[in-house]
Amino acid sequence: MTEFAIPAPAQPSLAIAGSDARFPVRRIFCVGRNYADHAREMGHDPDREPPFFFTKPGDAVIGDGAEIAYPPQTENLHHEAELVVAIGTGGRDIAAADALSHVWGYGAGNDLTRRDMQNKAKEMRRPWDMSKGFDRSAPCGALYAVAEHGHPPGTARITCTVDGAVTQESTLDQMIWPVADVIAYLSGLVELQPGDLIMTGTPAGVGPIAKGQACTVAIDGLGAVTTTLI
Ligand code: MN
Repeated sequence: MTEFAIPAPAQPSLAIAGSDARFPVRRIFCVGRNYADHAREMGHDPDREPPFFFTKPGDAVIGDGAEIAYPPQTENLHHEAELVVAIGTGGRDIAAADALSHVWGYGAGNDLTRRDMQNKAKEMRRPWDMSKGFDRSAPCGALYAVAEHGHPPGTARITCTVDGAVTQESTLDQMIWPVADVIAYLSGLVELQPGDLIMTGTPAGVGPIAKGQACTVAIDGLGAVTTTLI
């Protein structure tokens, strides 16, 4: 048994639909601009760009129903509704044809973003870490195991609502790089490990959540995650 000099950090984890067990979270990878309509709303040409990635710390995950303080250093916190992929079997240079066999399950996630800070970072050609990877920036609902629920169909609807008003609505087949391609690309950059999460990008309609509002991301067949800003 290793003796640690300070108490070892708690293992971040997510709920699993229909089970008392929890899914241990290792790292969180996020795909940028993976829906053409969102790439356009951010001023980019979706046809010319291969997928790119950024990360959030594993302990940025929070579950469904969390009430969180409005994050510091921003006046423009945005929601981004995303399909979350939970990796069960790691690997590197995974072929797209094999990629889905590495997926343990899926969930509904919200890539919370300090948009004013991100815009400034883009202007100054600085990294996105602090605009994307802040504390409690990765709300994620219960995970749905592939073994029980299968893979979500392309027709599955993904929506975001803020205080009940729909702000984002699309279907999973609108992703520029589907899940298998995302895993193939990402595993060429890093060796994927069990417990890694991938937030797969957001459709058009990203926008602000104000203090006091509740934001819900829902995906057909994969439940929902609601986050309230207090
Ligand atoms: Mn995103």
